[in-house]
Amino acid sequence: MNHFQLICIDCNEAHNPSFELLRCSKCDGILDVRYSSSYIEGIRENLSFNALIELMTPIIDKEFIVSLGEGNTPCTEISTVGSDIKQHLIAKLEYMNPTGSFKDRGVATMISAAKYYGVKEIVEDSSGNAGASVAAYAATAGIKSNIFVPSNAAGSKLAQISAYGAVVHKIDGSRSDVTEKLIDYKDKFDLHYGSHAISPFFIEGNKRFAYEIALNPEIDLPQHIIFPVGNGGLLLGAWKGFMELFLFGLIREMPKLHSVQSELIDPITRAYYSDVFDSQEGVTLATGISVKSPPRLNQIIEVINQTKGRAISITEKQMIDAKEFLCHKGLYCEYTSAVTLAGLHKLVEIGEINTGQTVLLPLTGTGLKEN
Ligand SMILES: [Zn+2]
Repeated sequence: MNHFQLICIDCNEAHNPSFELLRCSKCDGILDVRYSSSYIEGIRENLSFNALIELMTPIIDKEFIVSLGEGNTPCTEISTVGSDIKQHLIAKLEYMNPTGSFKDRGVATMISAAKYYGVKEIVEDSSGNAGASVAAYAATAGIKSNIFVPSNAAGSKLAQISAYGAVVHKIDGSRSDVTEKLIDYKDKFDLHYGSHAISPFFIEGNKRFAYEIALNPEIDLPQHIIFPVGNGGLLLGAWKGFMELFLFGLIREMPKLHSVQSELIDPITRAYYSDVFDSQEGVTLATGISVKSPPRLNQIIEVINQTKGRAISITEKQMIDAKEFLCHKGLYCEYTSAVTLAGLHKLVEIGEINTGQTVLLPLTGTGLKEN
């Protein structure tokens, strides 16, 4: 028997795990990994942080674990001298991951699952960091990858994807045209879809972000973490990780998890405030969170509410200023990462974050790929 199942987050239907299963067979809902209670009880008997990290994961057989040394990214204090910031700010340098973004922990787990289930070739659609990460981890696992990208995607990101040996499929048209072509191709050649936006394995791998923060002896557990949110993979993974640590009694409080989007594309913020969603056609510099209809939208809102966080949006000008501030502190991140600092200013302004509190900003992607 498996030590976990894939559970529908809408109707709770349990499914036997496989790599290609992305939706509930009953209601088409999104799936999450859930461990069996007997497995969890076994871990509880020998409880430690390390046991959790090693064992609360879907692929435990070392033979199938695919890794490039992702995670354990540095945490560094951001100097706020001379600014009007009155919080204790910590940056977690997610861009120090092997392919330059936070995607690597989740993709490592997703590709480990692909290897475990005997997948030989996958398809993925991404215009940037996720495509690069999937291409790299698939390469090291000996899995052929096809990455579908919009034809106008950034040249530096496409060069990285190609360099890993992936087959790059450039598609004219909108982002949804790219996904449509991917589905046609996948069906035609009977391939597996390694979707970072939906795969339960991707979210599960991202839990390590939370463990790393809780384990780090050099920093206090932050009261607030501010996430750039597109598909919500890092926020949801962090939440699962902190929840496990909380339920196992290894942390006493949950940090508040906040979501920041560009006001040009902000379906999460709109749903958080009004439940009304109409399509937006804006183009933001924060390409990593330019997602018009995130498949896990309802789950993201639930997590924000449950941790007493907030969903907010910021302007392009605020994002540009925030990136400049971070760069002048030696932190060369992409615009998508800079929305976290812009979000801090807004959360302080609306009274959500107070003077003297500890706030962690995940700097999710490197600035090097943005040119
Ligand atoms: Zn269901």
